[in-house]
Parts: sequence; structure tokens; C-alpha cells
Amino acid sequence: MALYDLTIHEARALLDAGEISAVELTQAVLDRILTVDNNVRAYLTLTPELALEQARAADAARAYKDGPSSPLLGIPLAIKDVLCTAGIPTTCGSRILENFIPPYDATVVARLKAAGAVILGKTNTDEFAMGSSTENSAFFPTRNPWDLERVPGGSSGGSAAAVAAGECLGALGTDTGGSVRQPAALCGVVGLKPTYGRVSRYGLIAFASSLDQVGVLTRDVTDAAILFSVIAGYDPQDSTSMDVPVPDYTAALTGDIRGMRVGVPKEYFVPGMQPEVEAAVRAAVEKLAERGAEVIEVSLPHTDYALPVYYLLAPAEASANLARYDGVRYGLRVIGSSLEETYKQTRGQGFGPEVKRRIMLGTYALSAGYYDAYYLKAQKVRTLIKGDFDRAFEQVDVIVTPTSPTTAFRIGEKTDDPIQMYLSDIFTLSMNLAGICGISIPCGFDRQGLPIGLQVMGPALGEMAVLRVAYAYEQATDWHTRRPVLGR
Ligand code: GLN
Repeated sequence: MALYDLTIHEARALLDAGEISAVELTQAVLDRILTVDNNVRAYLTLTPELALEQARAADAARAYKDGPSSPLLGIPLAIKDVLCTAGIPTTCGSRILENFIPPYDATVVARLKAAGAVILGKTNTDEFAMGSSTENSAFFPTRNPWDLERVPGGSSGGSAAAVAAGECLGALGTDTGGSVRQPAALCGVVGLKPTYGRVSRYGLIAFASSLDQVGVLTRDVTDAAILFSVIAGYDPQDSTSMDVPVPDYTAALTGDIRGMRVGVPKEYFVPGMQPEVEAAVRAAVEKLAERGAEVIEVSLPHTDYALPVYYLLAPAEASANLARYDGVRYGLRVIGSSLEETYKQTRGQGFGPEVKRRIMLGTYALSAGYYDAYYLKAQKVRTLIKGDFDRAFEQVDVIVTPTSPTTAFRIGEKTDDPIQMYLSDIFTLSMNLAGICGISIPCGFDRQGLPIGLQVMGPALGEMAVLRVAYAYEQATDWHTRRPVLGR
């Protein structure tokens, strides 16, 4: 197998046995990027010299140390371009931050560096993470490695495509309404969205602060547990991060789910969903039953409201968060004839159409006279949605659903119809509204050879149960071992 196709844990074993060096591994991934990224276009910024320097440091550290090394020492990873990286451009896929170079690292980036990881570069994203296809990037769309005419999903589409295409061994993404899980599903990789507050958001450029969370994209569940263990934990610099001990998530990888209760919500098998997706997910539920899980039908009665609630709250929070881009402090500045003109020109030229749509929707929902009818009402319904999950998790340990109602769609297919695009996250949004955790793992392919994702959700801080079920499923199947045919 090519070095760039290894999982993190496979690479770790070879590195520790001295069979490969971090420099060889990093060079193999950089060569792979050179071969395929002109087609896939997963990266906005590449940092090859820095990566090789970090790889040399990792090799040196290993040479001086006895015993087991940090699981990420010398492992080449990619970072979604909404996470601040000191000295390296961080654009959020937006013209307004095109030339922004942060003076500091996001806590998650600092943690990866402290663990000895090699940082390859910054991956493409929908502008300010608003989107489900990476087509809202101000720079270029990323393509799906399984079919270059199709989208990789979004907004962490660059990270998902990079993992699928062998352009990194794992990546960080962010998930506000599905942006780690949906692209993971569409690219045939694993995507974990942790509980709200489990991972520090310090240095994550804010989209919707009550929903945003950093997650990981990897080739299998073991790698997700490894990477997540490194980034999880309390951070005094993020007041929303939880001061709760971090367990060893790899301890969840037992393969044993006998007696675990798996909920299947009847509201998640909707008309209009691609029949192959439904069939694959139902087959996956059967597999879990074969492995000894008890399958229980549950109800999440307010599911239908998740989409409208999300599209009131997320734009409302975004409209406030994005007020800081005024052309005065950082980012793009287009000087006008007055201060107000400078604001208008800067924002008018700096933001793309979807971001402007969200700012307008959000400002409207928050404005005097409409606040009670829209924003406040949406907050109340959010509480009902959370209540649905609280009740369901009294009966079951995890809930299993499709991740996305369809497999990867064609580039351009949904760009003219925002509602169609928004529907791509119909199964992922509720989890963010409820603040709970979940994962998407590969569970099959449609007739056109496009990957299908299975979503496993758990309660707040229920990542151990989620990883346990996901791993047991993965052990019983080989979907995660398939790789797209690209440039070979
Ligand atoms: N697709 C959803 C949106 O456009 C979710 C995005 C995300 O999770 N960042 O808002």
C-alpha cells in the first residue's frame, strides 16, 4: 500500500518500528498532493517546507526517545481554513480574509503541534463555513475524489476530500450544522462531531457560536479516536469549553456492543431520500443487531422543525459575529468617501452571496418587532428539539440514522436553489441544536460508486458509546478500506 494511503495507526506502527521515517511519509503525501490536487483542489494553502521541517523534528525526537511515542508524532495532517494558524494565511474561504495572517494558533492547532504532528496546509471551505458543498468558497470549489464532477460536501469539503484522496492522513474540520459529518459521508471517510464544549474553539473563526464545534476527519474510527483524544479537553481561553476529564477514547474500540441499545428514529426515514441510502442504513442497523445490539424504534417528534430553527438561529448568530469585518481592524479594507462608505464597500466586496444572504436573514430575525416572532420562537423550539433527544437517550445508548439524504450531487446542481442545498443537512442539524455528539462512518456505495454515510449519535459527552458502536460496525464491514481511483 502507498504510504499516503495509510491510516494514522498504521503509519504509527511503521514509524515506531523504524521502517519508515516521518520525512519519507511526509514527502510521500506531498508528492501525492502534487499529483492529484490540481484535480481535487482540497487545499487553499500548502506549507511543504514547514511540514518537512516538522517531520525532521519528529524523526529527531523519535531517535532520542525510548518507549512509545505520542500517537501523532510525525503524522501529516491538514487543517480547515477557519482555524487560526500562526504565520500562515487563514481565509475562511472568503475574500474579506484573503490576506489575513493570524498572530496565534487556535488551541486545537497548538495541541496538534505539541503532539508532534506535521501540518501540511489549510483546506478549502465554504465561505465562513456556510454551505454544504464547498462551492461557496470565494476561491474555487473542491471536487469529490470519487467523481470529480461532484461536490465533496461541505463546509469541511477540503478536509474530507484531502483525507479521501490520500492528501493527508487526517484532518480537522468544523461542524455547525453538519459540516464535518456530511462531507465525511459524501467522501467515504469518518467524521466525528464532538459534544458542544468538548473541544476548545479558541482560534476558530466564529460562524454561529452556540453551534460551532471542531471535529476530526479520518480514514477509520480508530484514527478518529486517536485524533479526537489529542484535541479534546478544557481550555481556559474558551469559556464554553467543558472542564471535564478526557477519557482515553481508544478504550472504546472493543468491538463488543452486546446489550447496547441502538435507537432508530422513525422521523429520519423521509420520503424523497435516495432509496440506496435508506437500504444501506437499514442493512447497517441489521449488522448492529447481528453483533448483539438491541434495536429499538424511538421518536424525535420535533425533527421537522430543525431546519427552520437552524436557519433562524445560525444566521442570527452569524450576523452578529460577522459584524467585526468592518475594514478597520483586520482583513480587507476598501476605502470609501466616508467611514460608512468604507464599511459598505469593504463588506459589499469582501463577502460572497451566501454570506450576505445569511447576514440579511439573521439581521431580520433579530430586528425589533421580529425578534419575538422569529429568534425567540426559534430558541423555544430548540429547547423542544433538545428535549426529544433527552427523552430518547433515556431509552437508548446511541441513535442511528443516515448522515445525508443523498450521495454526492453534481457541481452546480444546487447552487441556484438555497433550500435544496440546506436540505442536504436535514439529518445533521438537530445534533448541533441539541449540543450532542455523533459520527459519520462509511456504510456502502450507491450504484454509481458514490459513498454512503451512517450517522451514529450519542448524548452530551457520549463519545465513548458512539465510538464503540461505530468501531464495532467498522469491524464487521470493509467499506472504510476502499479508496477512490485517482491519478494512478
Ligand atoms: N450546511 C450548513 C450551513 O450551511 C452547516 C454548515 C456547517 O456546519 N458549518 O449552515
